[in-house]
Amino acid sequence: MSRNPGNRVSVKPKNIIMERTKIQDLQHMEHLILQTLFQASLKDENGEEITLGEYHFKFSNAVRTAGQCRPGEKLIKLSRRLCEANLHQWDKIKAILLHEMAHAFTAKIYGMKHAGHTPKFRKVARQLGTPVTGSQTPKGFNLEIPYKYKLTCPNCGKVTKYNQKVNRSCGKCNPGKYDPRYKMEISQIH
Ligand SMILES: [Zn+2]
Ligand SMILES: [Zn+2]
Repeated sequence: MSRNPGNRVSVKPKNIIMERTKIQDLQHMEHLILQTLFQASLKDENGEEITLGEYHFKFSNAVRTAGQCRPGEKLIKLSRRLCEANLHQWDKIKAILLHEMAHAFTAKIYGMKHAGHTPKFRKVARQLGTPVTGSQTPKGFNLEIPYKYKLTCPNCGKVTKYNQKVNRSCGKCNPGKYDPRYKMEISQIH
């Protein structure tokens, strides 16, 4: 998406989380992410309008980290798998995006030393209207990142899922200890 400096609008805190936007695919979500990133503006303490026009966005391959902001690189990332799995939950993805944007705005307005989860950050996060003001995604968000691997017991067919390749035997066929007779077979989930 190209930036349109003449048409920046302020983020309106009250409306953000209430939106119900139907998203078809990841490209559509990326478009909305870029729109949100480049249209947001906040006033600093001198009343100057601050935007994140110099930032860029990437999807990350992270499975444990929903979002990241790197003010030094002017970079915001969101987990691709998180976004893909939650196309129908744009309001929640947007809340996480706004959290990362709050880090970026805080670094820009107050300096890098305030850019963590500091009181200045929480103030900015509130101005942007995100409910995600700590390092953890709040309970009730129920955002899912799908698992990467499926482990199947060759004996009973029991299935468990993991994000890493792990060497396990079936806890149903022989509970309590590793048993090579019931070594779980690993397959990748696409
Ligand atoms: Zn954070
Ligand atoms: Zn089994």
